Amino acid sequence: MSEGIELSEEQLKNDICKVMRHLFERGLVSALGGNVSARLPGSNEFWITPSGIFKGELTPDDLIKVDLDGNIIEGFGRPSIETPLHAAIYRVRPDVNAIVHAHNPFTLGLALAGVGLKPITVEAVMVLRKVEVVPFAFPGTDQLAKLVAEKASTGARALILQNHGIVALGSNLYDAEAVAETLEEVATAQFVAMALGKEPPVIPEREVELYYKLYRLG
Ligand code: 13P
Ligand code: ZN
Repeated sequence: MSEGIELSEEQLKNDICKVMRHLFERGLVSALGGNVSARLPGSNEFWITPSGIFKGELTPDDLIKVDLDGNIIEGFGRPSIETPLHAAIYRVRPDVNAIVHAHNPFTLGLALAGVGLKPITVEAVMVLRKVEVVPFAFPGTDQLAKLVAEKASTGARALILQNHGIVALGSNLYDAEAVAETLEEVATAQFVAMALGKEPPVIPEREVELYYKLYRLG
């Protein structure tokens, strides 16, 4: 996957399709559910996946470029119905250059049961850091975009959309994909422990603080 400041728009578009394929293969997005976007660092325009097209085999020509008001700049077809949500995040988070919206089944299942994700692995601590839950609003609405922007502005790296799915925020596509996958990895492990009737032990807070200091996080 391409990374770094020399990233071109063509690489960015290729990487969006690659990430979407990975998510589809992992069962985090379905044939018609989920969307991915990315922008060149600092840009007020971003590329996003199309609406209502099979997500497993997207090609760069399927993508649409929009501005932060959702106006179409380039490309054919209809941009994702969640374009307002993506734009709202880019507006409040200059550090975010890639966004994954997926329908992670285990992450969603735990949220539906009212169970929060716990710091049970190093990845849960290092990759996820701050996870916020966004109350339900209908997919594709400005109301959902507004609620998401509120939570995103707290510095969260991951949002759980109640009764819907997740949003992963990254400084690049690789980063956002890692957040989406880690959410599901942690939720699945936590679910297994709980299904066996055990309360999973967590990494102690002191250790977490030490990790953060060591890697200059948070
Ligand atoms: P789009 O196909 O329009 O991106 O919608 C999928 C989705 O997950 C809506 O929340
Ligand atoms: Zn969705």
